[in-house]
Amino acid sequence: MEIYYLSAHELKNKLEKKEISSIEITKSVFKRIGEVEEKLNSFIRLEKENALSRAKEVDKLITSGSSVKDLMGIPVAVKDNICTRNITTTCASRILENYIPVYNASVIERLESFSYILVGKANMDEFAMGSSNENSYFGPVRNPWDITRVPGGSSGGPAACVAAGEAVCALGSDTGGSIRQPASLCGVVGFKPTYGLVSRYGLVAFASSLDQIGPITRDVRDCAAVLNIICGHDENDSTSINTKVPDYKSFLVPDIKDLKIGIPRELMVEGIDREVREKIFSVIKMAEDMGAKVEEISIPSLKYALSVYYIIAPSEASSNLARFDGVRYGYRNIKAKTLREMYRKSRAEGFGDEVKRRIMIGTYCLSAGYYDAYYEKAQRVRTLIINDFKKAFDRFDVLLSPTSPTTAFKIGEKIDDPLTMYLSDICTIPVNLAGLPAVSIPAGLSGDKLPIGVQIIGNILREDNVIKAAYSLEKAIGFNSRPEL
Ligand code: GLN
Repeated sequence: MEIYYLSAHELKNKLEKKEISSIEITKSVFKRIGEVEEKLNSFIRLEKENALSRAKEVDKLITSGSSVKDLMGIPVAVKDNICTRNITTTCASRILENYIPVYNASVIERLESFSYILVGKANMDEFAMGSSNENSYFGPVRNPWDITRVPGGSSGGPAACVAAGEAVCALGSDTGGSIRQPASLCGVVGFKPTYGLVSRYGLVAFASSLDQIGPITRDVRDCAAVLNIICGHDENDSTSINTKVPDYKSFLVPDIKDLKIGIPRELMVEGIDREVREKIFSVIKMAEDMGAKVEEISIPSLKYALSVYYIIAPSEASSNLARFDGVRYGYRNIKAKTLREMYRKSRAEGFGDEVKRRIMIGTYCLSAGYYDAYYEKAQRVRTLIINDFKKAFDRFDVLLSPTSPTTAFKIGEKIDDPLTMYLSDICTIPVNLAGLPAVSIPAGLSGDKLPIGVQIIGNILREDNVIKAAYSLEKAIGFNSRPEL
């Protein structure tokens, strides 16, 4: 196996035994980038020189007897909406094309304290709005399994680069599915933690009550290791949960005997591909064979989740994105003659179509006279969804569903039809509305060799059950295919 395809824990073993150095790992990853990046466009910016010099420092630490921590000397990609000090953070938008943060996001500080290596800033849908990574000012990302297809979104870059060996793991953000759906379409593992478990300080806000940072990795073990590093209380984020965080690696046990798994009927909706459905049923069968108790459940309010999300997310976005006014951040139209004209032109030229669409929907939903009918109503239905999930978790330890109704679709196929595009997240969005943890793991390949993902959802702060189930099923599934690139 090529070095760039090894998992972080395999590499850690080799680093400990001095069978490999961080510089070798980093060089291997950048060689791979040289071979495939032109086809994939996973990155907005690469940090080759810094990465190589960091790797040298890490090697010195290791030779001088320092113990090898998780992710130490391991090349990691970071989605370009997570602030990195002195390194551009564009959100794949023209408006932030030249924005250089003066501080690190809290998750970056934590990765740094573990001596990780930053490969570069990964491509994404502009401001994390999208399901196909076609909404990037820096061009679309292509799926490593078939470069005529999308990698999913909005963390298309992080998922594609991990799948293709351009990074060992990555950080993404998930507001309605943006970690899990691209992970599913690219055949990797993507985890959205409980809302508030990972600090959002330094994550450029899209919809603050839904956004959450999480790992994209090649396997569940790496996922648990990254969670250990990035989870935990942060006083810089007022929504951060102040609780003792367990060692997530302690849940890596292949045992789901007597685990109660619910299959929400509403997430096995019409419009799920036949092959996806069959794959999910084969995973359910595996779970039963391992002694889990599987039962169907109905969660009626889930049918409103998509509508609720497309009121709440754009509303919060319209408010969050008001700060990009040509004065405080980013792009400014310098020919404008009046202040109003400067605002108008800077925003008109700085934002792409999807972002403008969301700002318009959100501003409309929040405006006097419509607020009660849309935003407030949506919040009420959101509470129903939260309560329904609570009831479901009285009976079940985890819920299981497809991650995405389809495998990767063709580039261009849905871009002119926003409503069809919005359906891509029908299985993932309810999870964000209720703040739950959920993971997508690869379930296998379709007939035309495209990855299919299965989603495992847990109750608030029950990452333990999610990891246990994911780890056990990952073992049973035994997915080890790689894209041919
Ligand atoms: N695809 C969804 C959207 O466009 C979710 C995006 C996300 O999770 N950031 O809003």
